[in-house]
Parts: sequence; structure tokens; C-alpha cells
Amino acid sequence: MNFELGEEQKMFQAMVSDFVSNEIEPYASDWDESDEFPYDTVKKMAELGLYSIGLPEEHGGTGDELTFAIASEEISRGSGGLGISYIVTIGLAMYPITMHGSDEQKAKYIPRVVDGATVAFALTESMAGSDVANLDMRYEKDGDSFVLNGTKIFITNGAEADFMTTFATRDRSLGHKGFSAFVVETGTPGFSVGKVERKMGIHPTSAAELVFDNCRIPAENLLGEEGKGFRIAMEAIDASRVTIAAQAVGIAQAAYDAAVGYAKERKQFGVEIARHQGIQFMIADMAVELDAARLLTYRAAWLTQQQGKSPLKEAAMAKLYASEAAHRICHKAVQIFGGYGYTREFPVERFYRDQRITEIYEGTSEMQRWTIARQITGTR
Ligand SMILES: Cc1cc2nc3c(=O)[nH]c(=O)nc-3n(C[C@H](O)[C@H](O)[C@H](O)COP(=O)(O)OP(=O)(O)OC[C@H]3O[C@@H](n4cnc5c(N)ncnc54)[C@H](O)[C@@H]3O)c2cc1C
Repeated sequence: MNFELGEEQKMFQAMVSDFVSNEIEPYASDWDESDEFPYDTVKKMAELGLYSIGLPEEHGGTGDELTFAIASEEISRGSGGLGISYIVTIGLAMYPITMHGSDEQKAKYIPRVVDGATVAFALTESMAGSDVANLDMRYEKDGDSFVLNGTKIFITNGAEADFMTTFATRDRSLGHKGFSAFVVETGTPGFSVGKVERKMGIHPTSAAELVFDNCRIPAENLLGEEGKGFRIAMEAIDASRVTIAAQAVGIAQAAYDAAVGYAKERKQFGVEIARHQGIQFMIADMAVELDAARLLTYRAAWLTQQQGKSPLKEAAMAKLYASEAAHRICHKAVQIFGGYGYTREFPVERFYRDQRITEIYEGTSEMQRWTIARQITGTR
């Protein structure tokens, strides 16, 4: 057993880390204040090859699951908001195309992402959150087109995406067997972006309502077989869990680094606060949880590589633990900064806000616990 990254992975990590320190970290607070999506930075990330990670090699992709987790962690260390945009584009949103798309669909869409296109994954609806099978967006076949009608909510990258993968039902009475998956270009007539949410954190990336009003798409935009949409959506979410865990680890690392640095400088009662045992205990707990979260995350990524698919239980464990550990780590980081931690003068309050969503999207902590318990007990 070897807990070290390989030489290539270490070099890759150092390269991304450098980029994050120079091109993301210094601007992340401004993006947070302005809610601005950093298109120029995305372009630079694409030039660096970051948008090819985890995509099939024959269409310009490189890397593997662990490399993708490392990139997701590092980018999220700089900006949780940009981190989730990146993770959704390459992972969650592209999965239905890379795993179920035809050769033509792959050849059409993957190179656009390698060049820095932004992609959304539009599944959630007002009555279909955790209960995904309850979705109501309809589609019907009309000649050589499909016509989509319905509204999605909370969609990451919704306002910025060039195209998206989405899901609709042919007939609600069929339950999840009625679902199909589609790819939709955002310029398609009948498609529009509705309300963009004002969020607690991850500000640079939108969470938007997407409206499909008689949105007609060519029949060739069906992904996989008709009726297989539910399975495709679930597989995409399963595969993406490990990168949300990586996002939580990245944000927690940023909070930990800031808190340790501050504790060594800030003096109270005549000494650096790092000398007070109360602060030392917090730092020790943060270090232990950060390490455990990262190890669970890397194990799930490594298992994905070994098995060729996401390990349900271990990926859910990684997402559950890393997101809740990130919560505790960011909470302590604010505490170590005292009053300054509650101000926008320092970034720890942003880390605290950005981290919170990792416990909610792509399956809440309750859904992760449910998945883990079902795997252990064999119940459904
Ligand atoms: C910022 C943001 C970005 C998002 N990005 C996307 C995206 O890109 N694409 C997309 O499709 N969706 C996206 N979502 C939606 C997200 O995945 C859902 O919000 C999430 O799955 C929870 O669904 P819900 O909000 O409807 O909560 P609900 O399902 O209504 O849950 C409410 C509470 O009840 C609990 N609960 C529900 N059922 C059970 C149960 N059986 N047992 C125990 N507890 C239960 C939940 O854990 C939660 O605590 C995003 C959401 C946000 C806020």
C-alpha cells in the first residue's frame, strides 16, 4: 500500500497549485463580491489543459479520476465557486455524453469543453430534488425532433453554459422508466434562463432556473436510448460525488492554511495565539479531519480507476465525510480569526459560506447516509 501520489501526479498538482495561487486566489474575493463569472480565467485554465482532464483521449482528453480529483481540489482551494463550475462542466454534465453519447455526439461536444466551453447538468425541478424520480419536465417526439416543456431550478452554470445535458419524461405514469436524456444548446429557440438565485456562497457560479417552452431539438440530441435517462442521471451523480468531496477538501485546506497562518501571527495576552492550548487543539482537530477527508476522497477516486466505475459506498462516504469535515474546519477557522473572521477583510467567512453547499448538492448528507446504509444492509 502506497499513500504517495505518483511523480506525474505530484508534478501536475504543483503546476495546478501554482496556477491557483497566481491566477485564482488573488481574485476570488472580488468574484465573490461581484458575482462575476471569470470567463478569462476559464480560458487560461483551458489553455493549461485543465478542461481535458477525465475526458476520453480520442477526443482530446487526458488524465484520470485521481487527476480530476486533484484538479478539483486545487481549483476549489482558490475559489469554491469556480471549483464547482469546473467540476460540473467536466464531470457531472459531460458524463451523459462521454459515457452514453454516440461517436458523433462525442466528436461534437468534447473538443468544445477541452477548449473551455461551460456545460450545465439540468435535472432538479421544484418537486424533484432529492426525489429525482418525481420530475415533471415533458418531452414528445415530433417527426425528427423532440419538443421539451418544463422548468429546471438551481442549475449550476445555468446562466453561463454553452450547452447542457438535461432530463425529461415521456409520460409521468411510467415513473423513472419514462425518463430520457438530451443535450440542448443554450441558443435553441424556446430555451431561456429564468431566475438566477442569490446564494449564500459560491458566488461566481450561477444557480439558475432554466425554462423550456416548446423547445425543439433535433432527434439526434437524444443521449443513449429513450427510457434510459434515469439510469444515466444516477450514474452521473454517482460518478461526480468524489469531485464534490474534493471540492470540500480544497475549501477546507484554504481555511486551514489561513487559520494556521493567522494563529502564528496574531498576539493576545503577550504571545501568538498559536501558543494557547485552546487554539492548538482546534488546529490539531482541523489537521486530522482534513487528512481523513482527503484520504477518503483519494481512495474513492482510486477505486473508481480500479473498477472503471464509481464505488457507491466509498464515494458516498467520501462526500459525506469531506463535506461535513469541511464545515467543522471552516467553522474553527472563523473562530481562530475571532472578530476578523466574521468580516470580509479576511477570506475565512467566504470559505465558511462556500463550503456549506457541499453538504447539499449532488445528494444531501441525508441521501449519502441513506446510500451508505443501503449498501451495508442490502435494503432498498
Ligand atoms: C447552489 C446550488 C447548485 C445546484 N446545482 C445543481 C445542478 O447543477 N443541477 C441540478 O440538477 N441540481 C442542482 N442543485 C439542486 C440540488 O441538487 C438539490 O437542491 C438537492 O439535491 C436537494 O434537493 P432539494 O433542494 O429539493 O431538497 P429536498 O429534497 O426538498 O430536501 C429537503 C431536506 O429533506 C431531506 N430529505 C429529503 N428526503 C429525505 C429522506 N428520504 N430521508 C431523509 N431526509 C430527506 C434532505 O436531505 C434535506 O435536508 C443545486 C442546488 C443548489 C442550492
